[in-house]
Amino acid sequence: MGFFSKSGATDNKIDNSDKWKDKYLNLLETQEQVAQEQKSLEELLCKTIVKLSFAIAGLDPQLDPQLQRIRSTLKNGINRQSLVDELESFAEALAHLDDQPQQPLETALLFDFLFQLYTSAEQKKALQLIRTQSEEKKFATANQLFSAIIIAIDSEQINPTSAIPVDSKASALASQIDTKIVSQQLIHLLDSIEIPAIFDSQAQIVKQLLVSHQATAYEQVLEKSINLLLGIKQHSQSEQQGIDKFLAHITEQLTELGLTVTGASTAAQESALIRSKLDQSVSEQMKALQLSSSSATKLEPLKVVINQRLETITKEIHEHNQEEAVKRKQTQEQLEELTMKVKIMESESNDLKLKLKIANTRALRDSLTGLPNRLAYQERLETELARWKRYRSPLSLIIWDIDHFKGINDNFGHKAGDKVLALIAKQLSSNCRETDFISRFGGEEFIMILPETGKEAALKLANQLRNIIEQTGFNASGTSITITISCGITEFVENDTHESAFDRADKALYQAKQLGRNQCCIN
Ligand code: GH3
Ligand code: MG
Ligand code: MG
Repeated sequence: MGFFSKSGATDNKIDNSDKWKDKYLNLLETQEQVAQEQKSLEELLCKTIVKLSFAIAGLDPQLDPQLQRIRSTLKNGINRQSLVDELESFAEALAHLDDQPQQPLETALLFDFLFQLYTSAEQKKALQLIRTQSEEKKFATANQLFSAIIIAIDSEQINPTSAIPVDSKASALASQIDTKIVSQQLIHLLDSIEIPAIFDSQAQIVKQLLVSHQATAYEQVLEKSINLLLGIKQHSQSEQQGIDKFLAHITEQLTELGLTVTGASTAAQESALIRSKLDQSVSEQMKALQLSSSSATKLEPLKVVINQRLETITKEIHEHNQEEAVKRKQTQEQLEELTMKVKIMESESNDLKLKLKIANTRALRDSLTGLPNRLAYQERLETELARWKRYRSPLSLIIWDIDHFKGINDNFGHKAGDKVLALIAKQLSSNCRETDFISRFGGEEFIMILPETGKEAALKLANQLRNIIEQTGFNASGTSITITISCGITEFVENDTHESAFDRADKALYQAKQLGRNQCCIN
């Protein structure tokens, strides 16, 4: 800094040269930037052209090789002049594309018809060749095209392997074209296709025009013919759409029908067999329907066929349902019969159960007194003994014996004795606890099992019962008599068996008798 401050003039020089230098450098930088921008712009242009060339590829067969060349040139990098040339070439190609109208739809349709009509290998080959030439715009006029077609379909006149002369020979032929032959071919074409009713009058007019083959207005006749064919084609397409719609509707109906059939069938084995037969039949009908549909070109005849098939299917389903109804009725009847049999068996079984119950009851009851008998006593004692062994709660046994019962029989008769027996049994059973068990052990002896009862409590109860019997006035042949009973009591002790306990009670009874009867003794 000090150096610059010493000499102001030198400083100025340096300042000026620096300014120029900066200016120069800035200019260089700006130029570099411009060059860079131009380069990226060129790149962008190249990319755009390549993309555009891809976008329009395939639109025109003549344009495609040119586009290919432009793409490969641009891909390898180009200078500015080349870019200008390529852009011009590209613009020209696009302009050429604008000049060339698209392949008219009628020509394509015409070839569709011709291929259907002329099916020999030679004719097909020749027609294919003309189609290609037509697509490549090699025919300047419709006349040229038609004359080429006439030659192609007349196999006598051509060598199918050789290309159709387009420029020289076809032009010559075009001038000599026999409109009569063209007309005949078009009439033949119209005759060979099915013409929908709405096109009838139009077809008649065209045919008349073709028959009269006025050479002057022949271009117009051709145009009318082509328009008619185009109209027929469009109509048949819409007809096909109608068929598709109708078929979709039919398929829906058939699916529903199939579901109904499946739902209506029962799970019975026989029904399953019938159903599988029906399924097979329906599926055959469906196959036939599919076949008719796929080959159908007309909606009305198809509707007739489908309706016939549907009628057959519906009829078969109806028959199937009837058959099923008969089977169902039979099954129902069989089921009802079986149910009846089961009910009878059930009733019989219930009767048997009751009888068995009564028999069992009888086996365990004494018929005279209605009390459990000796067998019932033995069963009950086993149960009570098992419980006693388990819980060790007190268990007592009382053996009753009517005093001087023999005398009653002797004095008042056996029947009177029976009455006394029944009465005493009733008094004893109705005056003890529900948990106590009383049975007629045999003759004029009764035995009682008293659970949860010790011998003292048993004695108390026994004396109550004995008193009741003593208090009961017995009527024997009009005479009121007093009857007494005696008993022996024991309580089960350690290591007791039924016999040991019974023996003790029996000894106590004996003791009661010995002591003068109408007594209760404990042992
Ligand atoms: P004791 O006071 O010593 O018991 O004298 P008792 O007469 O009752 O004794 P015994 O055993 O000698 O007589 C019992 C009688 O009971 C004999 C028999 O004829 C009678 N007897 C047994 N079973 C029946 C029966 O079912 N009906 C009738 N009416 N009598 C019966
Ligand atoms: Mg006795
Ligand atoms: Mg007795």
